Amino acid sequence: MTLFQSFVMVDWSGGNDTGPRPRKDAIWVCVARNGQSEDPVYLRNRKVAEDWLSRFIRTERAADRRVFIGFDFPFSYPSGFAKAITGTDDPLALWEWLEAHIEDTPTTNNRFDLAGQINTQFGGKGPFWMNGLRRDIDGLPRTKAGYQNPFPDRRKVEDLARGSFTCWQLAGAGAVGGQVMMGLPVLHRLRNLFDGQVSVWPFEQLDKPVAFVEIWPSLTLGGAPEGRIKDAWQVEQVALSLSQLTDQELMGQLDVSAAEEGWILGVPQDKSKIVPPPLRNDCFALPAGVAWTPVDEALALLQDRLRPVTSSQPVSLPQAMGRILAADVIAHRSNPPQPNTAVDGYGFAGPIPEGTCVMPLAPGRSAAGIPFAGEVPAGSALRVLTGAALPKGVDTVILEEDVTVQVGQIAFHGPMKHGANTRRAGEDVVEGDVALRAGRKVTPADLALMSAVGVSDVLVRHPLRVAVLSTGDELVEPGASAGPGQIFDANRPMLLSLIDRMGFIPVDMGRVSDDRDQLRARLDQAAGQADVVLTSGGASAGDEDHVSALLRQAGAMQEWRIALKPGRPLALGMWSGKPVFGLPGNPVAALVCTLIFARPALCLMSGQGWAKPQGFDVPAAFEKRKKPGRREYLRARIRAGQVEVFHSEGSGRISGLSWAEGLVEIEDGERHIKPGDLVRFIPYGSFGL
Ligand code: AMP
Ligand code: MG
Repeated sequence: MTLFQSFVMVDWSGGNDTGPRPRKDAIWVCVARNGQSEDPVYLRNRKVAEDWLSRFIRTERAADRRVFIGFDFPFSYPSGFAKAITGTDDPLALWEWLEAHIEDTPTTNNRFDLAGQINTQFGGKGPFWMNGLRRDIDGLPRTKAGYQNPFPDRRKVEDLARGSFTCWQLAGAGAVGGQVMMGLPVLHRLRNLFDGQVSVWPFEQLDKPVAFVEIWPSLTLGGAPEGRIKDAWQVEQVALSLSQLTDQELMGQLDVSAAEEGWILGVPQDKSKIVPPPLRNDCFALPAGVAWTPVDEALALLQDRLRPVTSSQPVSLPQAMGRILAADVIAHRSNPPQPNTAVDGYGFAGPIPEGTCVMPLAPGRSAAGIPFAGEVPAGSALRVLTGAALPKGVDTVILEEDVTVQVGQIAFHGPMKHGANTRRAGEDVVEGDVALRAGRKVTPADLALMSAVGVSDVLVRHPLRVAVLSTGDELVEPGASAGPGQIFDANRPMLLSLIDRMGFIPVDMGRVSDDRDQLRARLDQAAGQADVVLTSGGASAGDEDHVSALLRQAGAMQEWRIALKPGRPLALGMWSGKPVFGLPGNPVAALVCTLIFARPALCLMSGQGWAKPQGFDVPAAFEKRKKPGRREYLRARIRAGQVEVFHSEGSGRISGLSWAEGLVEIEDGERHIKPGDLVRFIPYGSFGL
């Protein structure tokens, strides 16, 4: 079951947009379902937003979808305020009171006056402050000078959410006080309109089909990518990530108690629930002043900086094939669950001493799935078939081929060891043991194991989505006609299928010419649709190397000059919070860099942990001299027990990639390899291909 089918994030506003053009600070909402978001919607004022929300809820209910709606303003005030105003601690009573006292139209509202009236009730120096209007208002200070607050300044959750504003401040950049006053009446009306269908978190049990939840996007999200309106981008990101949470994860976050003051979703009430922060923008920083980074150091840096980015979902066993386990799988039952016989034969109580043994046969038998109900008397034997549970009085079995059967009895030669030809309960897996570890990619054998130990549902990660983008003015689509100076895009089909073979979801972002604006737009799209972006071409420091230039502009790029052949610099950077691997354009280098650098990093981000390919030492069938101080990978294959390499090392020679069945890895320090020397061969299969 999924708790909710539709997720909506609303970015509310204290202001109203009355003009003809969209404004940054009006209202934005975004809807997401099944892990996909729609385009953010612009709502110019609260009236329009209220209408939109009531229409939306009605449509969703008609389609029988349960709706989770996040609003970005506090659902309650610091402790004591509701009671002082309404006579009860119930924040929903305060919603009702505010609805009765706030007047709000697209052109005017009375929030500052109401705040002044409330303040006057408490002596005229607080709790509200900051009159945002030109005219003076009795009891409402313009600044904090002389301000006295009869209530706590902050809610408990606001002490934990660093950077949050208090609900007492009514105006000024970032203030939320106006939004609370203007938003709660709307929520109250919607709750009345859909009477009995709305629950408000965390004041009520979320047992109704519509949930209102307080969310503060800036808790987890930073600024928007270049060219996007922050509020629009934030509601999209929040709706999207809500819709990608598993029920379990969502319930974990909703599990707070804050009946009077409310809470902000995602702020951990107890430290054990802290969610890891998103990847940092400086994730790919390299130590300053390093000229060429050795491959192993570069890999160690990646391993250290990256972490899993995918969320998890429960699936039933058949769907788990090829997926990555998000949690350890615990055996619900032992395998075998009870002692049973490993062969067809006769069972009795062992051991049996050396010599001839004759035993009476007890009536009946024990077969797989049809156990013998009674007890076998000491000194008697019972017919048993492979897989049958051992009945009481039986702990040893003799193979039927070793027995002569006469009427009512059997004869055989001892000795027989106690327990012979039987399987102990739990000799394979004991109930409660970890059957499979988190991070494992589920294989057919794992499905057998999980079935045997009584597991029918497992928590797996959402597959990592990897966007692939080619760059270069010279590229044309395979199949199109190519003019002089043009070449076919060879990298994209290769990289997309590599991603697929490695078990990730390839997202084809097409080709972009060497044009910075186009590339920027495409990177935005890619970062919106995928968890990681792979580009090829334009990654070095030349005039037309726009990938590196853009990533550098975004302030989050590092040119990794890795001591690797074939390779050239690799551009690693963050774009809108997503890692970008800027691969070299040469297909050979693009493939090698993907296998050596991108793959282990992708595996780590997908939740599988760092993946080191398995290599084998095989005698060389070739001779090679190389410069020490850099790692080299040669296109290679094994023939007659020896490893041979492609006749050319040119990094544009795609035919060599096809010819090869793996790579030979030549260590950084190596100088001269002679025929017969052992070299490390890594078959393509070791890279998951
Ligand atoms: P760049 O890294 O953009 O300087 O490109 C290096 C070389 O790789 C140039 O010869 C490009 O034409 C070539 N190249 C770049 N992208 C591709 C691609 N998608 N398919 C085939 N060759 C490419
Ligand atoms: Mg290029």
